[in-house]
Amino acid sequence: MSDFYELLGVSRGATAEEIKKAYRRKAREYHPDANPDNPDAEAKFKEIAKAYEVLSDPAQRSQYDQFGEAGLGGMGGSPFDAAGGFGDIFDAFFGGGGPFGNGGRTGRPSGPSRGPDLEVVTTIDLRDAIFGTQADVSVRTAVACNTCEATGAKPGTEATTCATCGGSGHVRQVRQSILGQVVTAGPCATCNATGVIIPEPCETCGGEGRVVEDKTFTVDIPAGVDTGSTLRLSGRGAVGVRGGGAGDLYVHLEVRPDPRFVRVGRDLEHDLLISMPQAALGARIPIDTFDGEEEVVVSPGTPSGHVFRLRGHGVPTVDGRSRGDILVKIGISIPKKLNDKQEELLRAFATEMGDNVASPDEGFFAKIKSAFK
Ligand code: ZN
Repeated sequence: MSDFYELLGVSRGATAEEIKKAYRRKAREYHPDANPDNPDAEAKFKEIAKAYEVLSDPAQRSQYDQFGEAGLGGMGGSPFDAAGGFGDIFDAFFGGGGPFGNGGRTGRPSGPSRGPDLEVVTTIDLRDAIFGTQADVSVRTAVACNTCEATGAKPGTEATTCATCGGSGHVRQVRQSILGQVVTAGPCATCNATGVIIPEPCETCGGEGRVVEDKTFTVDIPAGVDTGSTLRLSGRGAVGVRGGGAGDLYVHLEVRPDPRFVRVGRDLEHDLLISMPQAALGARIPIDTFDGEEEVVVSPGTPSGHVFRLRGHGVPTVDGRSRGDILVKIGISIPKKLNDKQEELLRAFATEMGDNVASPDEGFFAKIKSAFK
């Protein structure tokens, strides 16, 4: 499906009012009744309706802005999606009284429901994963509308209790079933299950009591986190409709690959190339770690593939009790090109070792050698 903002012909920063106006205009334009000869109009009309459904709800809009349509899965719908279920079954068998002597939910005002949780991904460097850091995360969220103080009613006017449901947001329905008479509670259609009617909606928020806003939070990222770690910021998610509390904000972390170290659990692997004489004779090689310079003591006769361990210079556990190591894996570099003196010395060395090596005037090797010169 196309971009929702494009479908409605509005910018990504459009206000609730602009979105509503654009929707009305587009809906009129593509209404199937107005386009009897255009078979595509109905499909387009449905797409526009879907776009409006999402963009007119601050929480869904926020998810859409961050994750596109994929972000809308599991979102949306009325508060009844979450609150239904067992309540209705108890209502059916206990006549609304509920088994716990609390009178059940029926007839009890449910109050404004909490807003949805939001999710955001932030990327940090390996150094920050080792030592911890503070990161700013930006999120498009829903905040309480200042104009109406989250009531949804135009200043100077007031929300009234819904007459149909008496403010409970639920209506009771009596049905006949094979079990006899069943009383169930369903959402009140008059007030959309909110229990209140807004006679004059606030112009800023269109009666939602909340508006879309881009917010930035500074998040403390503890030492020891890894890609896949998630931090939960309680109450930093989107606020609910008309004074509903805020959901939580989940910050998913991703650690950027480091050019020098490959993380394996708590350890950091580092490839170190040394020369043949260094491997044979031993050497002290400085390594730049996240804690400053450390020294790898290469013992004489170190083979390629040998691993030296710099203890305690890896990644800490999140509780800070221990730290992994840096594993320095030795590779031996072979010179591609030798000057005359180097070649002479190396040949003398080979002779001393009794090694059978190619002679300089053997046709095939001479040709290859000249190609490298
Ligand atoms: Zn408002």
